[in-house]
Amino acid sequence: MTSNESQVVILDRDGVINIDSSDYIRSSEQWRPIDGSIEAIARLSKAGFRVFVVTNQSGLARGYFDSTALQAMHDKMSKLVHKAGGRIEKIFHCPHGPDDGCNCRKPATGMLEQLEHYLGQPVTNAWLVGDSLKDMQLAHAKHCKAVLVRTGNGHETEQQLALPGAHTDQNTSIFDNLQAACEFIIKQQKPVKKTNLSAKNTHFGVFSRFLLGVRAVLFYLLIIIALLPVSLILTPLGVLFSFTTRYQMITSWNRCALWCLKLCCGISHSVHGAENIPEQPFVVMAKHQSAWETIYLQTLFTPLSTILKRELLLIPFFGWGLAMLKPIAIKRSSPKGSIRQVQTQGLARLKDGIAVLVFPEGTRTHFGQVGRYARGGAHLAIDANVPILPLAHNAGKYWPKKGFLKYPGNIRVEIGEPILCEGRTAAELTDLCQEWIESTIAGMPDE
Ligand SMILES: [Mg+2]
Ligand SMILES: [Zn+2]
Repeated sequence: MTSNESQVVILDRDGVINIDSSDYIRSSEQWRPIDGSIEAIARLSKAGFRVFVVTNQSGLARGYFDSTALQAMHDKMSKLVHKAGGRIEKIFHCPHGPDDGCNCRKPATGMLEQLEHYLGQPVTNAWLVGDSLKDMQLAHAKHCKAVLVRTGNGHETEQQLALPGAHTDQNTSIFDNLQAACEFIIKQQKPVKKTNLSAKNTHFGVFSRFLLGVRAVLFYLLIIIALLPVSLILTPLGVLFSFTTRYQMITSWNRCALWCLKLCCGISHSVHGAENIPEQPFVVMAKHQSAWETIYLQTLFTPLSTILKRELLLIPFFGWGLAMLKPIAIKRSSPKGSIRQVQTQGLARLKDGIAVLVFPEGTRTHFGQVGRYARGGAHLAIDANVPILPLAHNAGKYWPKKGFLKYPGNIRVEIGEPILCEGRTAAELTDLCQEWIESTIAGMPDE
């Protein structure tokens, strides 16, 4: 069982993570975790499992609470898990009532199909933990490994399981609570330990390292050649077009570079959470591990203003092209001076409707390392009154900051939900970003 899907744990919410009520949980104040459940989820994350919540919320259809209240409950739950060092990757809920005939209310399988769509693979063999017969029936229908907890409706369900026609598996595992269930899950399946880069590199012998070197040389040759038409033709032509068109013309080099990277070095990428990108301008706070993200992010967010050294803009053609992308150009006079320049130019860009990219750690870190997160990006977002979009990725694993070789694989990019600045200090915002980015990277599956 080393397949990816066995690393997924699907949790029911009420009666598993939080104390259930026959009167429904209607607000975040009423949402109270069962002792030890938050820590149990964190342990799963730390052991490398991806944790999802799949929950029936017919209280919505019954009018007992609205989606804002549900969101507040889920924010509370996610925050508590984050604080404990874990992560709930995504929450699926069915808003319908029992008579609506929807295909998502458990034991119907709709929510797990949404999860499969999100994962890009079936949930067969994933763990499914619940307290109700519906959960066990769903696990059976989708060939998940069923785990029953005796919290919530668990005791009742345990008796129902014994009755004929329950439509569940014979070998359902039963535990007193989520804590015990998670301990069992972790023990059952020691997930593949995260390969750290140095371990990974040693897998390549001398000959394969030579080949990787040749592939990297080819890559650099191609992207340098591609610079010529972009600098000499598209840049001068760009003057004739609007900013957005010009931006697309010049960043065609970035798209070309990504394509060359795949072709020569076998490095692809996948993006998760693109639906979180807001319509209005925002500050992107991203992990910095590699040159890769500086190339890629300009194609993901269009337009995007990046911070760079002003001297670069003076290079004929190439620099002129960069200047046309409306970067934040700083003179490296003093650290304080740079912060001021980022602040004033950043504000101007955001006012123009252009997103601004900030690497809060300042310089690149090795895969697996965490730098000190500076608060400049948060200050900028507060001053401009725009949301912060946290972005995690593992580019450093395949295109490390030092060394010439590039290692084939799929870079995973995850975009978090926008973090709103209202009522938060720059320190709090920066902490929130760091927490989300680092725990997301820690929870990334090996690909
Ligand atoms: Mg339940
Ligand atoms: Zn539904």
